[in-house]
Amino acid sequence: MIQAVRGSIPKEDLGITMSHEHLIIDLRDVRKDNESYISDVDVVCEELKTIKELGVKSIVELSTIDMHRDVKKLLEISNRMDMHIVCATGYYLQEYHSKWLLEASIEDICEVFRHEITIGIDDTEIKAGVIGEIASGYDGIRENEKKVLIAAARVSKETGCAISTHCDHGRYGEEQVEILLNEGLNPDSVIIGHMDLLLDLDYHVRILKQGVNIAFDTVSKTSYQSDEDRAKQLKQLLDLGYEDHIVLSQDVSRKSYLVSEGRLGYTPVMCYFVDLLKLEGVSEQQLEKLLIHNPARILDF
Ligand SMILES: [Zn+2]
Repeated sequence: MIQAVRGSIPKEDLGITMSHEHLIIDLRDVRKDNESYISDVDVVCEELKTIKELGVKSIVELSTIDMHRDVKKLLEISNRMDMHIVCATGYYLQEYHSKWLLEASIEDICEVFRHEITIGIDDTEIKAGVIGEIASGYDGIRENEKKVLIAAARVSKETGCAISTHCDHGRYGEEQVEILLNEGLNPDSVIIGHMDLLLDLDYHVRILKQGVNIAFDTVSKTSYQSDEDRAKQLKQLLDLGYEDHIVLSQDVSRKSYLVSEGRLGYTPVMCYFVDLLKLEGVSEQQLEKLLIHNPARILDF
């Protein structure tokens, strides 16, 4: 079953899924601006209408505890939109870590993840269905980030719950995989995130060879890569046989990405990226894997 905010659902019900998004997010503790702050349920519901019409049924919401994740708001959005939302337990980059987290043991962190996956979050019965987005920094994996990665791996091994990660600018994915797999978890429970920020085919293949999954989850962030280049590289990975191990998304994390701010919000994958992939020769069956079957298999536990 897949643990969504309205309760467990069979994996067949997940449907087209955006695998790395933020609906309610607050990064002001570190960024000190109003940009990385999305809090209005009405605004988010309006933003989701278009992708719902385009067939998206589910969203993996990877806001962490230290991004001020708000599961009550996520439940309200899920109910109002009649879409599945899988919420997360996890901690983000080290600069976001609280004093408690900096001093916590790996077992202390495991206890938080375990509680949120099996009992509930913030005094609700809403359970996390994924551990994420577990992050590492631009210049490497810092000490406290390593602690969180190890805790995530241990609880994933114990519960079967998937892990989804943040590789800053796409970097240090191999090191994340090494730390995670070292704990003996199922590699297929791992999604290494933001791989489309660093379009290096050999790097992606080295990661995929470990049996984990990767995310092309920053579609439309063209300041890093053009979407045409994303599509070309994705096709190469499919040609190498990795169609069962890639998922897609946009990672909306700032107000300025929203349709209400004149941008494309949560729509790029469905509105044009799928067409770019078809132009590259990606088949309907392969698209169904990227959008439906891969997230469903990985999130099922
Ligand atoms: Zn994210």
